[in-house]
Amino acid sequence: MIFWMWKLATRGTWNTREALDSLCLASRGITRAKCSAAMSDHSKIEWTDATWNPVRGCTKVSPGCTHCYAETFAERFRGVPGHPFEFGFDLRLVPEKLGDPIRWSKSKKIFVNSMSDLFHEGVSDEYIEKVCQVMLAANWHTYQILTKRSDRMATLLKGRLRKAEKAAHIWWGVSVENRKHGLPRIVKLRSAKPTVAFLSVEPLLEDLGEFNLGGIHWVIVGGESGPGARPMEAEWVRNIRDQCHKAGVAFFFKQWGGVRKSETGRRLDGKTYDEFPDFTETEALESEQRLLLLQEVETEYRVGAGR
Ligand code: SF4
Repeated sequence: MIFWMWKLATRGTWNTREALDSLCLASRGITRAKCSAAMSDHSKIEWTDATWNPVRGCTKVSPGCTHCYAETFAERFRGVPGHPFEFGFDLRLVPEKLGDPIRWSKSKKIFVNSMSDLFHEGVSDEYIEKVCQVMLAANWHTYQILTKRSDRMATLLKGRLRKAEKAAHIWWGVSVENRKHGLPRIVKLRSAKPTVAFLSVEPLLEDLGEFNLGGIHWVIVGGESGPGARPMEAEWVRNIRDQCHKAGVAFFFKQWGGVRKSETGRRLDGKTYDEFPDFTETEALESEQRLLLLQEVETEYRVGAGR
């Protein structure tokens, strides 16, 4: 049971948006501008609204990681004192970010750990569970969790993360870049039977052939972008699109990619594919209730004024 949910039954005396802002700002001794920047409440990624990174950094596991955008970004700031990526792409837990979704009053689609992999071996089961507790409590958002560590994700979803696995507002996904590494991840994902399961087929590095879309609700496809981008052929994309439509699976074409992705766009056969699984937007809690939740999270993880 979520340890702080009982608080929702009570009414606090702090009942304003200002109080939420104050907790965010004063407890950390930072300016309003810096606080906003640290909370990634908007994203340029086409299939999400915001990113949330309670973990930073990662290590490579398969060919899809070769030109990891997160690593490239993070390493630019290694050694910059006070920067969120002062330690480059080294794996770090960031408990002071756990409360971010509670601060956001407007419903968003949130990509969880866009700069890491929640199921990295350096992240404890306990910490992953805490991330899930926040997602279950702040249920006015839709969460998108994507991993290449599908074995561990499947094991946990079938065990201590069972509640999060059943929640319709938490979408669980795996990356699929090729047949050898990507297709077995789909099998693992399907075995966990999440309420909403998705694939991020990006960067698509080869034709995936025919594969089983049973138990999958959403497929994103994209080509690699940036320096050294590996090419993607249109036939590979059409093959996936056609299989999705045949199976009744939502299909989202993110980008062709390439060295300059702005020049290649995201239209396929003259059409933009922006399909999503069905989802319902839920009203956020009132400010005072969110503040109580936030106080509980901040206190629990010792990220309040005393830290
Ligand atoms: S798993 Fe994802 S975040 Fe980690 S190195 Fe690979 S591409 Fe980057």
